[in-house]
Amino acid sequence: MSHIKSVLLWENQRRYIREALDAGTLKGAIIPTGSTEQHNEHLAMYHDTQSAVYVSRLAAEKLFPQVIVTTPLAIGVSEHWMEHKGTLTLRPEVFGEVLYDVADSMRRHGIHNILIVNGHAGNSAPVQERLDGFRQRLGINLAYHSYWEAYSEELVQEQMESGICPGHAAEFETAFALAAFPENVDWNDVAYDSAKLTISDTGQATADREYHHQAKVATAEKGQAMIDVAVAWVAERMQAML
Ligand SMILES: [Zn+2]
Repeated sequence: MSHIKSVLLWENQRRYIREALDAGTLKGAIIPTGSTEQHNEHLAMYHDTQSAVYVSRLAAEKLFPQVIVTTPLAIGVSEHWMEHKGTLTLRPEVFGEVLYDVADSMRRHGIHNILIVNGHAGNSAPVQERLDGFRQRLGINLAYHSYWEAYSEELVQEQMESGICPGHAAEFETAFALAAFPENVDWNDVAYDSAKLTISDTGQATADREYHHQAKVATAEKGQAMIDVAVAWVAERMQAML
């Protein structure tokens, strides 16, 4: 075999990767970045990581066998959600360095086209600040995008009843989960008004409540429509890099 077995790096045995690199059929990598953080009362904490992996996998499958998806960065920069128990956070410099090392690992194996596909807004500033430096140190083709950059204002207004995207655990992310991994959406016993929330910032508390209500209008159909656009857009970005 001269190509990868699966677009997910971790599902391959080493021989598939080695032979694909030797044959020159494997040319690019996607590094998904996400978080493990609170997603309001109904959505699983892994959403940002899972959604970034989901879009990355489908985009890589469109470009099979040229692109591999690395193991995701499943913990992001989430200091702003630490009031919500269960959230995990990395310091921005630690997140940046781990991301760098994953990209450098792929570079050392001969991959010179790397697209970082992000699913957590809190990662963006820490990455953007470091991206030029990473490019200089790595000397490769390196790009970073949050997958929702795929969405035009028109599409958001057409698909999202709330008109908000991405928001946080609101209509968009809930719709995505309903389409891709519905087991992550759990409304059982959700009692928002009597929940002991510990949000000290009043603006955040208001937004949290609004997002909770917006999430209720999410549907799998809208989620699928948004996923399809993101997958096509990420595949295009990656294709352009190859
Ligand atoms: Zn999220």
